[in-house]
Amino acid sequence: MSGPNTDYDPVEVSTLQPEEVEAARDAALAAFAAAGDLEQLKQARLEHAGDRSPLALANREIGALPPQARKEAGQRLGQARGAVNQALAARQAVLEAEHEERMLVEETVDVTVPTDRLPLGARHPITTGSELIADIFVAMGWEVAEGPVIEAEWLNFDALNLGPDHPARTMQDTFWTSPAEDHLVLRTHTSPVQARTMLTREPPIYVVCPGRVFRTDEYDATHSPMFHQVEGLAIDEGISMAHLKGTLDHFATAMFGEGITTRFRPSYFPFTEPSAEVDLVCFVCRGSGLDESGADTCRTCRGEGWIEWGGCGVVNPRVLVACGVDPERYSGFAFGMGIDRTLMFRHGLEDLRALFEGDVRFTTAFGSEL
Ligand SMILES: [Zn+2]
Repeated sequence: MSGPNTDYDPVEVSTLQPEEVEAARDAALAAFAAAGDLEQLKQARLEHAGDRSPLALANREIGALPPQARKEAGQRLGQARGAVNQALAARQAVLEAEHEERMLVEETVDVTVPTDRLPLGARHPITTGSELIADIFVAMGWEVAEGPVIEAEWLNFDALNLGPDHPARTMQDTFWTSPAEDHLVLRTHTSPVQARTMLTREPPIYVVCPGRVFRTDEYDATHSPMFHQVEGLAIDEGISMAHLKGTLDHFATAMFGEGITTRFRPSYFPFTEPSAEVDLVCFVCRGSGLDESGADTCRTCRGEGWIEWGGCGVVNPRVLVACGVDPERYSGFAFGMGIDRTLMFRHGLEDLRALFEGDVRFTTAFGSEL
C-alpha cells in the first residue's frame, strides 16, 4: 500500500480531471459528427485526435501522477481516446460512402446522349482530279513526273523553243523572281518537267505531269494567276500524230464517259510541229448543240457541240535536240490541258474561283467523289 501522494498537484495535471477528459471527448465527438465531408473530418481529426489534441497532450501528463492516480487516469483517458477513435472511424466510413455515391452520380457518363460530331472535311477536287488523271495514264504504263514550281528560265522557255523574243517571255505573262540575274520564273506551264525528263532519261519516255502553274492573269470567273495543268509526253521510235489522237480519245472517254472523243484543229505552239487545239465532244449534248428539250442551245458548249480542251502536237525536233534526244531516231507527241477547266466541265461549275477559295462546303460536295 502506498502512502498519501504528497507530490500530487491537481492544478498541474488538470487536463486529466474526469470532467476535462469528458469535455475533450465530447468536443471531439461533436466535431466529427459536424464534419460534412472528408476534408472537414480531416481538420477535426487533426484538432481532436492528432498529436497536439487535448487528449494526446493529457496523455503525456500521466507519468507525472502517483501510481494509483496514474492507473485511473490512464483508464479514463484510454476509454475516451478509444471512443474518439471509434467515432472517427465510423464517421470516416459514412463520409467515404457518401463521397463514393456522389461521385457515381456526378460523374455518370450517359453513352446514349448524341455527341457534337466534328464535321468531316474532304479531299480537294483538284487533288482527286489530278490523281484520277494520273491513274488513267498509269494504267496505260505511263509514269507520273513532277518538277519544281520555281523554274530556271532556260527550262521554262529556251529548251521548249520559246526564243528570247517570244511574247510569252514578256512581263505581262510571266512572274519573275528577284534578283533578275538568277533567271528564275514561276513556271508558266508544266512543260519544263518534260524537258527535265528528256534531259535525265533515255527514251522511251511516257510521262504525265500534273501540277500548279502561274501566269500574270486577272483573277475572275474564268482566269486565275495560279491554275493547274496536266501535260503528257511520249518519246519513242515511230511515234506519230495517230498515237496522240488515240491517247487523247482514251483520256477523254476515261474522264467523261463512253463516246466522248476529240477533234483536232490546226494551231501553233513553239514546242510542237505540227500543233493542234484539242476539242471534246460536248458530254452534255453529245455534239448536237441542243439542250435536253431539243428546242434550245446546250448551255455547256453554247450550241457548238464541242468544248475546247487543250493543246497538243508532235514534239518539235528543235526541242528534242535541246533536250539531248536524237530526232533522227526518236519522235514524240505532247499535250496539255487545264485540270481546273476539265473539272469545271465535269462538275458544271460556272466560276473558276470556287476551286481556289477553300470553302469546305464546296470541297465536301465535289472533293470526295469525282
Ligand atoms: Zn453541248
